[in-house]
Parts: sequence; structure tokens; C-alpha cells
Amino acid sequence: MGDDDVPRYLTREDAWGGTVMRRLDDGWCAALDRQTRLCTIYQRRPGVCRDYEMGVGDCLIEFVRLK
Ligand code: SF4
Repeated sequence: MGDDDVPRYLTREDAWGGTVMRRLDDGWCAALDRQTRLCTIYQRRPGVCRDYEMGVGDCLIEFVRLK
């Protein structure tokens, strides 16, 4: 999104030309610390992450799916 200030090395271009977070081979976001499960760019995380409410249904589904 226009106001996002995510470090470019953590993003990639999708099939439609948009900028999205890069994922590693395990499917998790490249900005996620695998040990602590905390966001390593929390202050610079994209707007979509800021809008995502932690612990709600969709969040828990993703957590279980990628575990
Ligand atoms: S908050 Fe967003 S940028 Fe940070 S680890 Fe989670 S998905 Fe990645």
C-alpha cells in the first residue's frame, strides 16, 4: 500500500505487479522471527498487518495451517 515502508529485501512482486511480503520456503513471512514468532519489522510492518487483529479466527487458522 502507498504508505507502507517495508524494507524492500523483504518484499517481492506478485503476478499482478503488486508488492507483497516475501515468504520463505516454509511458507511463513520473511519478516517473522522463527524462534520468537515476533515480527522483526514491527514498527515498519505493512498496513494490512496493522489492520489484522491478533488472535481472531483467520489469524488462528493461518497459525495452525503453517505450523
Ligand atoms: S506482522 Fe506482517 S510483516 Fe510482520 S511477520 Fe507478520 S506478516 Fe510479516
